[in-house]
Amino acid sequence: MQRFSLIFNAIFKKKRYLIIIILLINVYILPANVMIPVKDASAKDWNPKTFWHEPWGASIVHKGIDIFAKKGQPVLAATNGITIFQGNIKRGGHIIIMLDRSLRLHYYAHLSEASHAPLIAFQGEPIGFVSNTGNAKGKPAHLHYSVFSIFPHPWRIDSSTHGWKKMFYLNPQDLF
Ligand SMILES: [Zn+2]
Repeated sequence: MQRFSLIFNAIFKKKRYLIIIILLINVYILPANVMIPVKDASAKDWNPKTFWHEPWGASIVHKGIDIFAKKGQPVLAATNGITIFQGNIKRGGHIIIMLDRSLRLHYYAHLSEASHAPLIAFQGEPIGFVSNTGNAKGKPAHLHYSVFSIFPHPWRIDSSTHGWKKMFYLNPQDLF
């Protein structure tokens, strides 16, 4: 019996390591592929310098990019993912937050009220429409897009304002 429990423990421990290894590969080595989350958008539709631009009002620094498009342009899921939240907040307006398999949160903001993401979305699937809700009201329509990694990337920290937060807020342009 004791031998049996020893064998059982060995297998269980091995599986536990396996789960951790798969998780780390998912997060750091082979993260989920990310696409530009606005239909027909390309790199000319955002200013490459606006990631971490300051000052940026109440946010201090701009922790994402603004992809400009005409109002009503479809917003697409950047990765396969699960919808964690969708609804209205003061600053972001109508927002959607999705989680991908690499434990990164994808934050889509200033969407139109007509937006609706499915619980499980596949990469490239429409989840909403570009607009200017929240604190983008009165400004040209754009998608604010941020990527937040639950697992830290400490080698990305630098001396900029809030630079330590770069271990969590990834630059979306590096992911496309
Ligand atoms: Zn923005």
